[in-house]
Amino acid sequence: MAVDPLIELRDVNKHYGNLHVLQDINLTVGRGEVVVIIGPSGSGKSTLCRTINRLETIGSGEILLDGRPLPAEGKELARLRAEVGMVFQSFNLFAHKTVLANVSLAQIKVRKRGREEADKRSRELLDRVGLASQAEKFPAQLSGGQQQRVAIARALAMNPKALLFDEPTSALDPEMINEVLEVMQQLAAEGMTMVVVTHEMGFARSAANRVVFMADGRIIEDRTPEEFFTAPESERARDFLSKIL
Ligand code: ADP
Ligand code: MG
Repeated sequence: MAVDPLIELRDVNKHYGNLHVLQDINLTVGRGEVVVIIGPSGSGKSTLCRTINRLETIGSGEILLDGRPLPAEGKELARLRAEVGMVFQSFNLFAHKTVLANVSLAQIKVRKRGREEADKRSRELLDRVGLASQAEKFPAQLSGGQQQRVAIARALAMNPKALLFDEPTSALDPEMINEVLEVMQQLAAEGMTMVVVTHEMGFARSAANRVVFMADGRIIEDRTPEEFFTAPESERARDFLSKIL
């Protein structure tokens, strides 16, 4: 089935000193696919995400985006970062800039859009994540769920080919989790290619094309949510699921 590959990791290995944090990782994310990555804390999920937009280097193997190797540095690297948006657990908004300015900033600096054009696009995106009325506020005036939606709008503003989410709802109060997941569901339905590290199994069941289960730096299972949740093959996955479900 999996078709037109957008992100490909081939035999990727990475060490932190003696720790073999990514071990022989092979993973293909097709265009328009949503891949959820789950696994115990410390299994390498964040590191994997960070290698995909080159926030981390790899020791061996290769990573291709749209058929091309990831650039090592310079302008090409900045372009890559714009093509693969990342949304973190902590929203990382600029505290002293308005919501609108947060969403416009990289459009102006990296995409070289004029302010007017950037702001227009920002307002469209803020509307799309349900925050049209919050554009002139500062991040601290918003709830965590609203701030995370701003972070998503900011990532979308670069017209990325793919979005990476690293536990985007883990820092949120429970009542704010759904508003963020709903925005992500909507993006998935619109065909955005997404890699999502999350423990939100409802999201995985309803939005993911595949679930990748990691433990100790390895991909242990890579299957449809249906297969994974009804009949996990590995003891590790069964054990993990019994703890979180
Ligand atoms: P996860 O996101 O699955 O919890 P991480 O990718 O954050 O796992 O971390 C995987 C392992 O790598 C952990 O043992 C962590 O302590 C270690 N690690 C992560 N980042 C670094 C770093 N910059 N230097 C050294 N060790 C690190
Ligand atoms: Mg992590």
